[in-house]
Amino acid sequence: MRPAIIDEFTKLKVSRQRKYQLRMQRDKRCTECGQPAVRGARCLKHLVQSRERQRKKFGLKRRYLATLSYVLEGKTSNVNQ
Ligand SMILES: [Zn+2]
Repeated sequence: MRPAIIDEFTKLKVSRQRKYQLRMQRDKRCTECGQPAVRGARCLKHLVQSRERQRKKFGLKRRYLATLSYVLEGKTSNVNQ
């Protein structure tokens, strides 16, 4: 078994998943897959995934093309969905 990770999050009373997210955030990595995060808490792939998930959940119609995830996707024009 791998030795336990001892750091500032070890003693927190939160789930293992949450600790993973906090560690990833601290190291500037994606909180879902651990790849280096472009900016914020997620890599581009998961930035887009969470954006689309939220659109669906809240039934949003508009696309704010100046938003980080669109800019990084290079989809600043021709979005016809
Ligand atoms: Zn990711």
